[in-house]
Amino acid sequence: MKSIWRYGAGIVLLASATLASADFPDKPVTLVVPFAAGGPSDKIARDLAEALRKPLGQTVIVDNAAGAGGTIGSAKVARATPDGYTLLVHHIGMATAPALYRKLPYKVPDDFEMLGLINEAPSVVIGKPSLEATSFADLRKWIAANGGKVNLAHAGLGSASHLCGLMFQSALKTSMTPVPYKGTAPAMTDLIGGQVDLMCEQATNAVPQIEGKKVKVYGITSLKRLPLPSLKDTPTLAESGLKDFDVQVWHGLYAPKGTPPAVLEKLNAALRTTLKDPELIKREEALGLTVVNDDRLAAAGHRKFVEAEKVRWSKVIKEAGEYAD
Ligand code: ASP
Repeated sequence: MKSIWRYGAGIVLLASATLASADFPDKPVTLVVPFAAGGPSDKIARDLAEALRKPLGQTVIVDNAAGAGGTIGSAKVARATPDGYTLLVHHIGMATAPALYRKLPYKVPDDFEMLGLINEAPSVVIGKPSLEATSFADLRKWIAANGGKVNLAHAGLGSASHLCGLMFQSALKTSMTPVPYKGTAPAMTDLIGGQVDLMCEQATNAVPQIEGKKVKVYGITSLKRLPLPSLKDTPTLAESGLKDFDVQVWHGLYAPKGTPPAVLEKLNAALRTTLKDPELIKREEALGLTVVNDDRLAAAGHRKFVEAEKVRWSKVIKEAGEYAD
């Protein structure tokens, strides 16, 4: 009797989950951004939220859960009800946090469903407006002369700017003084104000500041120059002598583990539609971002990619000896 009852209850649960999936989404969907408002992750999530409205037929809200290099917001989504209404927009930090944080409150990729890659974003090395260096060669000399006194801002341990900064110091064989913030937005305010010297920052937020001459730019972190009017004459770091220097940030969309497959399918289809949206593509390209359309948009391909990035970055992080509790 007991087992029949259990069997019956199981069918009822399954049937209600199927019904819920069929109606999905019947209320607003939340995109959790694990960094402060006004930074690149926030910008990408807000543009995506806008573009997702149409294919999902629902309002899409952005929730900034900033701090600890993106791990607070990621943990929030890992623990959320897996019903498709709470999603995470995260970047390369998804793959680097396991090596950086000794006590990470979630597992990567096991605690998440991979919805797909959103874009790739190069970074740029930028400096406070009062820096005298006018070229990368000048900057290099200045860093060599001032070493540990140079303040290098970043958006928190495990943020893209932190990782890029680690690679930059290791390529220059020098150590600077790291200055962590809760996101790019507050770090950028201090860079513009001259409270910090340098930052290795995603083009997303740096381009408007470079165009407005609020910061100085010294190099592109990926292997190709950027075709933007304000950056076409800026060499890559590799061209400037930092051999093979290549830091490319990427962003993806994730759901908590256990989200029903039918819901994941709807979300993935909506993501694919937005990534063909000419308006979104135009906005991203204006900031130097590339909307990618390859097998990293499928769950298996994206998982493989995150796992490969985890391996790649854990070596860099171990070499740099950077850890957090
Ligand atoms: N994504 C961070 C932000 O939006 C910046 C970073 O990772 O460097 O603030």
